[in-house]
This record gives sequence, C-alpha cells and structure tokens, in this order.
Amino acid sequence: MLLMSRVMVLMISTGVLSSCAQTPHECKDINGLLKSHGVTDTPAGLPVPDKSVEQWKAELRQAALSQGITADTFDKALAGLTLDNDLVTATQKQPELVTPVWTYLEQRVTPENIAQGKTLLKQYADVVTRINQRYQVDPPLLFAFLSIESHYGANTGNKAVIRSLATLDYYNYRRAFNRQNLIAALRMIQNGDARPDQIKGSWAGAMGMPQFIPTSYLHYAVDFDGDRHPDIWTSFPDTLASVANYMQQAKWEAGVPWGVEVNLPSGFDYSLSGMDSQKTVADWQALGVKTAVPRDLASLSSEKASILLPVGKNGPAFLVTDNFRAILRYNNDVSYALTVGLLSDNYQHDTPVRKPWPRQETPLTRKEREALQILLQEKHLYQGAIDGNIGRGTTQAIRTYQQQEGLPPDGYPDPALLDRLRCQ
Ligand code: CA
Repeated sequence: MLLMSRVMVLMISTGVLSSCAQTPHECKDINGLLKSHGVTDTPAGLPVPDKSVEQWKAELRQAALSQGITADTFDKALAGLTLDNDLVTATQKQPELVTPVWTYLEQRVTPENIAQGKTLLKQYADVVTRINQRYQVDPPLLFAFLSIESHYGANTGNKAVIRSLATLDYYNYRRAFNRQNLIAALRMIQNGDARPDQIKGSWAGAMGMPQFIPTSYLHYAVDFDGDRHPDIWTSFPDTLASVANYMQQAKWEAGVPWGVEVNLPSGFDYSLSGMDSQKTVADWQALGVKTAVPRDLASLSSEKASILLPVGKNGPAFLVTDNFRAILRYNNDVSYALTVGLLSDNYQHDTPVRKPWPRQETPLTRKEREALQILLQEKHLYQGAIDGNIGRGTTQAIRTYQQQEGLPPDGYPDPALLDRLRCQ
C-alpha cells in the first residue's frame, strides 16, 4: 500500500512537473510572435514635417483659395497662428487596452445621465416634437447622442479648431482628412456661421454638443431657432435638429426600435450571428429567439434584423434592426451604438441588460489581437493586415477556425480562443 501510494505520488508529480516544463515550449509567446513577423509597437504619432512653417502656410493658402476660400478669410483666420505642440502627445495615445463593453456602458448609462436626459426631454418637448415632424427621428435618440458626445453640452472641448487642424496639417498627420476639415472650418467662418474664436472643440476637431467635425457641420448642421445660423455650441434646438438631420440621412426609421435584448434558444446556430446575417424578426422568432425584456415585436415581424453578440456567446445577445446600423454611421463602434440605443430606451422605461456580462473575460489587448491575426494567418485562414482591428476578415477567419475545431462559431476573439491558437 505504502509503496503504491509513493509510486502514484511520484507519477502525479512527474506529470505536473513535465506539463509545467513544457508550457513555455508549447505555447507561442505573444511578443515573440509579433517580433518574428516584424510587427513593431512604435506609436502612430506626428510625422516629422517636410517643410518650413512659411512654405507650408503658403502652400495651404493656395489650396484653400483654390477651393473657394477668400484671401481675406484665410489671412484673418490664420493670422498669428502658432502650432499647438500638445497635439504631438495627443496623437500618440494609441490605446493598448480595450475598455470592456460593460464598463463603457456602465460609465454612460448612469442614473444621473438618464435623469438629466428625461429632464431635457420634458424641457424641449415642443421643440423635439417639431423636429420629429420635420426629420422623422425619435426624440430620445437625439438626447442619447448628446449625452455621450458632450454630456449634454457640458464638455464640448475648448481647443481652437483652426489651430488644431492647422497643426495636424503642418505635421502631415492624416493630411487628406484633416485638410478637408480645415478648409471646411474656414468655410464656416466665411459663411458667417461662427467667428474663429467660437470654433472650439476636441484636438481632432470635433465640435460642440454633437461633436461634429467641420465637414459634418457643413453637411448636417441646421438652424432651428430661427436666427439663420446653425449653432451647435449653445443652441439646443439647432443641435437637436442637426443630429436629427444627420440621422435622417443615415436612414433612421422613426418608430422602429434600434434593437432589443434577446435570449437565444439552446442549440442556436452561432454561424447565423453577426451584422452580416439578416433575417426578418418573424424568422428569428421562428428559430426560437425570444425577447429578454418585455417588448412586443408583433408590429416588427417583417423588419430585417441581425443577432449582435458584443462579447460573443458568453455575453448578452441583441436583436438589432437597420436603425442600429444608422447609429453606427454616426460612430462606427459597437459599444458606442449599443450605449446610444440603451440610453435612449432608459429615458422611456427602465431597460437593464438582463444577461450578465462575462466580466472574467478581459478583452484582448491590441498586441494580443495582432498575435491572433498572425496565428490565423499561419493557418491560412486570414490574409488581411496585422493591425489588431477585428473587422470582417478577422471575424470570418475566427468563425472558420471555430468551425474546424468544433467550437460554437460566434466569431468572437475571447482569451480562450487565443490560448487555443497559441498552444496548439
Ligand atoms: Ca440658430
């Protein structure tokens, strides 16, 4: 007996020892993978300017004048311009860590924000009724955008937009995009919509309560309080109508919900999840998809919808309509769109997310997502760029891998999936 137990102990400990010793050899190291594929972590900051400030300014002036900006507008707006060197650090903040969806939501769908939105909805009831008649966009949605973009106008940013965009232009940072916005900002001044010192916003040029960039301002900002100037900094009527105009053009359909939390039936085919897969609400119901909150979907039977799993099969599921896509046109980020949707619901009735979030699953870091793409590439499942962005190509590659491995193909890169790929 004694001898036997000793042998067993010895066997067990040998087993434990050998698996410990083997782990580093069997599992590929993230940093090693990135290094061997030449993926460096140099921050994407401002490049070195290629000309003197005077040369650059002359060239910019010519470009602006060729696009209809008058010499007078240009010279006044850029008189005494100094470059804003704080932007050098601002552009280098490429976040390594990703905020989990649940944290993002819980920081924004708060009792205070809900209460403030309800108060504003009452205060501007007449205005939003008229806006809804004109643009066919549901009023709660408008306030949800303002809450997230600027805390209902409390944080609109105080950087001088012309100076910020000129600095980014000088450093040749995303120049095609920023120059278009700089010229749009000059046009705003020329149109008499704002004085240069009124055009304030974030370092990237997002302005006012809805955080419109200058090109969006020119496309979407409207006057609704009757003074003929679209004022997105201090006028709620102008701001709300401007957001409504944006959402109308993004094809928002009034009266249709953005989506609803649902429970999926056991044995659900996860290859049907994701924004690329659409069925009518009635078809989803026929597959056993049921609302998780009290909501009658009868009037939406023929509406097209997708099953959105923001954090894969272990988290909450949402049945989302084309209106969710319309929100994504304002800001192409699922956490953002979900927050806008849930906040607008919560102004009307208490709408908590029912299914617990998988809080133990930390979202993959940028490096980990890049390593994941390399590992999928090594398996010939992925041909796209190693950039850490989980887009369509990466999601499809993940699904194919999950199918090969007999896992539910939800397309979501959870830590377990990365470990499986690393340690095979
Ligand atoms: Ca106005």
